[in-house]
Amino acid sequence: MIVSDIKGELYKLGIRPSKRYGQHFLVDQSIADWIVQKAEIQSHEKVLEIGSGLGILTERLVPLTRNLIIIEKDKRLAEYLDRKLGVEIINMDALKTDLPDFDKVVSNLPYQISSEITVRLLDKGFKKGVLMYQKEFAEHLVAEPGTKTYSRISVMVQYRADCTIVKHVSKGSYYPVPKVDSAIVEIIPRQAGFQVESDEAFRDMVRILFAHKNRKVRNGLVSERRRLGMDKQEARRFAETLPYAEQRPVKLSPKELAEITNAFCRLKNE
Ligand code: SAM
Repeated sequence: MIVSDIKGELYKLGIRPSKRYGQHFLVDQSIADWIVQKAEIQSHEKVLEIGSGLGILTERLVPLTRNLIIIEKDKRLAEYLDRKLGVEIINMDALKTDLPDFDKVVSNLPYQISSEITVRLLDKGFKKGVLMYQKEFAEHLVAEPGTKTYSRISVMVQYRADCTIVKHVSKGSYYPVPKVDSAIVEIIPRQAGFQVESDEAFRDMVRILFAHKNRKVRNGLVSERRRLGMDKQEARRFAETLPYAEQRPVKLSPKELAEITNAFCRLKNE
């Protein structure tokens, strides 16, 4: 579809693109082709698409697999695609529904759910994802320790997946044109490659440390002592025993952050 077709379809459906739903529809057909090719789908693979919109990716996915699962929150768009392509669409909020099992995920994601949906997808486990994100968010996913964009989401994703920005997409490839450019990220889940005592403890510790990502680990932990269930003295003593106490969380790799988490878990189990 070209922009005038998209406008026409939306008009017929009575839809004014919603910012809240991140409704920026991809217009550039060659980018849609590229995304779907990058996923290298085999016909037996279960493929998940989140936020099908007017179906620019969906119509390319339908001929490639017998097992396509589509989740779209906007009822009008879900009904439209069902009529147009004869595919069943789960008309739900992807953050509020139990995600099905799948092999690959191919989506142009609504920006506002990027972080939460990426973590939920990784919790399910899959073989490969080709996902379009807002450029800034994509940069967080691939950021290296010690860089400005290295953040909690970088750690939580990189600890269980390899992420690569495989293509930049300009905002002009959308209707309506968003404020920012986008990027396509390939995500390949894998084992962490190091031991972490508990995923939950790791999640909590990274959240606590990255609340003060540029302060020394020791100082950040002391000021967050309540969240660790400690008083000031306990937190100070604990910080003394820690690896990397004098470093700043923003400089620590997922493996090093896991070592801090494991030290905390050991202390709690003593
Ligand atoms: N895939 C289409 C494309 O490339 O043009 C649409 C992409 S648009 C960026 C995001 C789509 O996700 C919209 O159709 C929107 O209605 C839908 N959406 C927004 N929030 C959602 C959610 N929480 N769960 C499922 N779909 C959602």
